[in-house]
Amino acid sequence: MASDFEAQLRAVSLRVTRPRLAVLAALRDHAHVDTDTVIALVRAELPRVSHQAVYDVLRALTKAGLVRRIEPAGATARYESRVGDNHHHVVCRSCGAIADVDCAAGHAPCLTPSDDQGFTVDEAEVVYWGTCPDCVTGRIAR
Ligand SMILES: [Zn+2]
Ligand SMILES: [Zn+2]
Repeated sequence: MASDFEAQLRAVSLRVTRPRLAVLAALRDHAHVDTDTVIALVRAELPRVSHQAVYDVLRALTKAGLVRRIEPAGATARYESRVGDNHHHVVCRSCGAIADVDCAAGHAPCLTPSDDQGFTVDEAEVVYWGTCPDCVTGRIAR
């Protein structure tokens, strides 16, 4: 499995390093995690990695397109390794839980603006806001 990550890194001309491999592994197993969670997951693997090193890895992987950074309004940035399929997110207003929603049109930009103002639009960022099943259940129980 590690060799898959090595191939991914090489494909975008990034050097293969243990922190980069550890971050990719963490994001494969945990979708939509914030930076602190990524640091904790990486440290379980590589205890001596610094916060800064993990920040740098996330920045490099995001820039290279191996990792996607999502930042719902009012929430901390989360990271995921499901990239390239233009999927959207549904966010719980109560607890901040995030889940994937497949792209409605199947390809970017997904939504076509009624008037693009002359811009060439390549992406529509869609966030569905609502209440997750756990929070709905909690509300009924109360
Ligand atoms: Zn919730
Ligand atoms: Zn996602």
